[in-house]
Amino acid sequence: MVIDKEVVFIRNTKQKELILQVLSNDKSHPTMKDIYNKVHALDKNVGQATVYRNINKLVDSGKVKRLSIDKDITRYDGDKSNHYHFICNSCNKVIDIPYKGINVPADKINHDYNIQIDDCEIIFRGQCNECQSAIKR
Ligand SMILES: [Zn+2]
Ligand SMILES: [Zn+2]
Repeated sequence: MVIDKEVVFIRNTKQKELILQVLSNDKSHPTMKDIYNKVHALDKNVGQATVYRNINKLVDSGKVKRLSIDKDITRYDGDKSNHYHFICNSCNKVIDIPYKGINVPADKINHDYNIQIDDCEIIFRGQCNECQSAIKR
């Protein structure tokens, strides 16, 4: 059987769109498995390998951010705007922290170390709101 290249292309494009749709509606910074489960719920014909491959392609093309904030789990972020992350040490929840107000002196660092910073990932760790209340109780 000959697979029509155009058909494959359309299928891949549709699957990438589904992944982007899932990521734009999910602010929890889901894992590969979470994303697959949600995409699969939307389209039963999409297999795990395809989702994994397309997520990697989206990361390579800069449409999705790969986060290594957990030691063991890789998470994905559909929000490409510059922001930092807070991760709760108790429940592993990830919260977006807006860039505003936390300024990294990139120009000064570039100058002092003679480097060129393109990206900055800052991860704050601690207890989220709910976990703090749980401790107090
Ligand atoms: Zn927590
Ligand atoms: Zn984020």
